[in-house]
Amino acid sequence: MQKTVHIIGAGISGLSAAVRLANAGYKVAVHEATQQAGGRCRSYFDAATNLTIDNGNHLLLSGNRHALSYARSIGTEAGLVGPARAQFPFVDLASGRRWQLDLGDSRLPLWVFDEARRVPDTTLRDYLALAPLAWAGTAALVGNTIPCKGTLYDRLVQPLLLAALNVDPPEGSAGLAGAIVRETLLAGGQACRPLIARDGLSSVLIEPAVKLLQERGHSVQFSHELRTLGMSGDRVSELDFGGGDKIELAADDAVVLAVPPRAAATLLPGLKTP
Ligand SMILES: Cc1cc2nc3c(=O)[nH]c(=O)nc-3n(C[C@H](O)[C@H](O)[C@H](O)COP(=O)(O)OP(=O)(O)OC[C@H]3O[C@@H](n4cnc5c(N)ncnc54)[C@H](O)[C@@H]3O)c2cc1C
Repeated sequence: MQKTVHIIGAGISGLSAAVRLANAGYKVAVHEATQQAGGRCRSYFDAATNLTIDNGNHLLLSGNRHALSYARSIGTEAGLVGPARAQFPFVDLASGRRWQLDLGDSRLPLWVFDEARRVPDTTLRDYLALAPLAWAGTAALVGNTIPCKGTLYDRLVQPLLLAALNVDPPEGSAGLAGAIVRETLLAGGQACRPLIARDGLSSVLIEPAVKLLQERGHSVQFSHELRTLGMSGDRVSELDFGGGDKIELAADDAVVLAVPPRAAATLLPGLKTP
């Protein structure tokens, strides 16, 4: 019998898992608590402007190969667009000073060797001091791994890591920061082009995935919030959606919790979450 994978949550993580598993031959059933897919990455109709708008600005860097491969798998990679060259204008609001970081279009981080292209008033040695991030473990903090002060930190590292980690950088995971640096800054301008979903988040990253799954006979159910995981020893044996709506799992079935950390910890008490 074909193995069924139940995916809890139809945000971009759940949809990406669903498309990948469906392509690998699994039967997929997506269960989403709300009435729409997309979670924190979606578009909605805004009556005040009479426009369909995104829930927030989302920027991808071209080095994010997982996100690009997901877009490719649902046929919308061309909907992610950006400039050919990775150039970022900066303004220091405190001093009013402006400059442009020009990461170029190479596959190597050649920009650090060119004074005119790197952050003003920084030296090659400042960039070398970031090297420990590249091999930091997941338990290490940024603040214990690299110097969180100085011109390079203030002008590039702090804003970049704040945007990517959503926490004050010294408190952030050095392992995650290292992955960002390896996959973007260290991979040259080719990996740093800013991309946005030209026609909106939902039409580029969400709706095509739901359509693809449904057209291939997989189920995507909305207003279907998982309330409890029934356990049998250390295995999930039942999904309980409340009101007597339960799904018993076969021995080979699997469950993916593609929900935010707090929701996952509520469903699976004792789960260690970020
Ligand atoms: C304003 C804003 C701007 C952002 N900008 C960027 C950016 O520029 N670049 C970037 O890379 N990222 C950005 N992000 C982050 C990005 O949106 C998220 O990392 C991503 O959308 C998370 O996807 P997810 O599927 O993991 O989680 P979510 O999107 O949270 O999806 C989880 C889904 O699970 C559902 N769910 C929860 N509990 C249950 C349950 N018990 N049963 C069934 N379903 C359940 C939820 O309803 C939700 O649909 C931004 C986020 C916001 C809000």
